Amino acid sequence: MLTQLTITEMKAPFVLPELPYGTDALKPVLSRETLDYHHGKHLQAYVNTLNTLVEGTGYAGMNLEEIVRKAPAGPLFNNAGQVLNHTLYFEQFHPVGSEGTGSPKGKLKDAIRGFFGSFEDFRKEMASASVGLFGSGWVWLAQDGQGRLTIVQCPNAGNPVTEGLVPLLGFDVWEHAYYVDYRNRRADHIAALWQIVDWNVVAARMK
Ligand code: MN
Repeated sequence: MLTQLTITEMKAPFVLPELPYGTDALKPVLSRETLDYHHGKHLQAYVNTLNTLVEGTGYAGMNLEEIVRKAPAGPLFNNAGQVLNHTLYFEQFHPVGSEGTGSPKGKLKDAIRGFFGSFEDFRKEMASASVGLFGSGWVWLAQDGQGRLTIVQCPNAGNPVTEGLVPLLGFDVWEHAYYVDYRNRRADHIAALWQIVDWNVVAARMK
């Protein structure tokens, strides 16, 4: 499994991060076809384009997070953002019923209760932000420098690192993330995702 540190430290040439599970392991929440396309085609394309864009530039020596923080709006930011976003995304899931899935424990459980009232209220807020994001983008649970938790809606390839926040959990609401399995039913897709979130991975991202 990639750690937050290894994700942050990745540098060009970037490679497709390996899935920490098989492509049929997240059924019935995400089908093999969804993972084959989302990881094997979409993320691979972002990785390839990012490598082409940084080659021979000052960005070639920067790690992925630095590129996302420093790139101007445009193709470099979009592709670097999508590589960072999807690496975090695929790493945070685990098969239904496996250790870490279900509900958060320890300091993460306490923080979610403290900032959102309850785990149930947090899930409602995250779902509402996901359904309410117009077009393509990401919804993140993020942590600020004072340890406060917040939900952030980011259009397109956005990641809360550009606002100085630490991304803890990210939901991809681009249609490519759910159209094969859920068609236009984004809300049903988000409701199903809770079954495969690995809360140990999310907690390990906290500072
Ligand atoms: Mn995606």
